[in-house]
Amino acid sequence: MRDIIIQTEVLIIGASASGLMCAIEAGKRGRKVIVLDHANKAGKKILMSGGGRCNFTNMDISADNYISHNPHFCKSALSRYTQWDFIAMVDEHHIPYHERDLGKLFCDDTAKDILSMLLDECHKVKAEIKLDTHINTVTTQEPGFVLDTSTGKYQAESLVIASGGLSIPKMCASPFGYKVAEQFGHHIWPTSAGLVPFTLQPEDKQRLEPLSGISVESNVSTQGISFKENILFTHRGLSGPAILQISSYWKPGEAITIDLLPDTELVSVITECQSRNANTLLKTLLSELLPKRLVTAFLDPDLLEKPLQELSKSRIQQIADTFKNWQVKPGGTEGCRTAEVTLGGVDCDELSSKTMESKKHKGLYFIGEVVDVTGWLGGYNFQWAWSSGWCTGQVV
Ligand SMILES: Cc1cc2nc3c(=O)[nH]c(=O)nc-3n(C[C@H](O)[C@H](O)[C@H](O)COP(=O)(O)OP(=O)(O)OC[C@H]3O[C@@H](n4cnc5c(N)ncnc54)[C@H](O)[C@@H]3O)c2cc1C
Repeated sequence: MRDIIIQTEVLIIGASASGLMCAIEAGKRGRKVIVLDHANKAGKKILMSGGGRCNFTNMDISADNYISHNPHFCKSALSRYTQWDFIAMVDEHHIPYHERDLGKLFCDDTAKDILSMLLDECHKVKAEIKLDTHINTVTTQEPGFVLDTSTGKYQAESLVIASGGLSIPKMCASPFGYKVAEQFGHHIWPTSAGLVPFTLQPEDKQRLEPLSGISVESNVSTQGISFKENILFTHRGLSGPAILQISSYWKPGEAITIDLLPDTELVSVITECQSRNANTLLKTLLSELLPKRLVTAFLDPDLLEKPLQELSKSRIQQIADTFKNWQVKPGGTEGCRTAEVTLGGVDCDELSSKTMESKKHKGLYFIGEVVDVTGWLGGYNFQWAWSSGWCTGQVV
């Protein structure tokens, strides 16, 4: 007996940020949409995002907030479906939200609000979501594609790959999208973990482990790019927003530069204090500027006990460099296990920037994180998922 084939017009793989947005938009145009996902729940990453409050977009979005081998590719989608469009949808659903530092928008209550909104909209347009569906093969059959899965065979004219990147395998991340892209002859830029904590070299780890839990605003830089946000010392290494941001630009073996006192001219502060209160101990002055534990981990105890009057000009410069020009060579990153995103992915040059359609195979689309477009921390990755999903939803 031949298998029954479930016919639809649009098949979307991945029931999360980009896939659900695409389903909503295609559904609004009256297209028959089925979304398949191997997870037992839709939108797992949405639910865990932003510490459970989903940083769903940012007030200030531009192509400069994204990393890609083709930095222009994301411009079209981001300008056609903007943060204001997504905010309007959030407002329509009366979801309370607030703005945090650097324009980040978060739900007041829970990330569930965003997922419920997307699922509600899918329901309105009758887009069907099938969970617990494992895809065995993807083949072509005129006029489209046939997918052999654990819940049956599906055929559709348009196939949209919205299966995300490799970060957090526990949350059902898989290399499915890259494999489909390769199957259809696409080039994949090598993938690596982005927005991820650093591990440290053994000697730094031993020295800095006692600082676990300390967070200080810092300026972190590498290769001419810098981020001024908090860094967090952890028992494994370094984390916090500034570290996550720079991790997306870091190359193994390179050092990063950290200014632990970005708003303080430390040489002038020490020199001024030296002329006013020559007997002040160095440790007393530094402990007013930075957590005591941090100060003791960075400077020799004998030096810290010295009164400022005993410090030469060159010694003051050295002390300032220790805190303001800290060069640290990470041992590596924590990898996909804890990364928020995956860098690299499907080569943008082989996709239409307007529709996300493959230039290699008609009817095949790639949206969201599987594409070689990676946003900064701050709601940029979701905005890319919404914008790319929206664009594809207009044409499939
Ligand atoms: C801990 C964490 C917090 C984050 N917080 C934020 C934040 O606050 N703001 C922000 O902008 N970004 C955040 N991100 C990044 C953001 O979640 C992603 O960039 C975004 O979810 C990507 O959307 P997507 O639709 O492309 O992929 P995903 O959301 O990853 O969805 C992919 C879907 O495809 C399914 N899938 C995968 N493989 C298969 C397969 N083989 N068969 C069937 N289905 C499959 C998955 O189950 C999943 O449902 C965070 C990420 C993490 C890990």
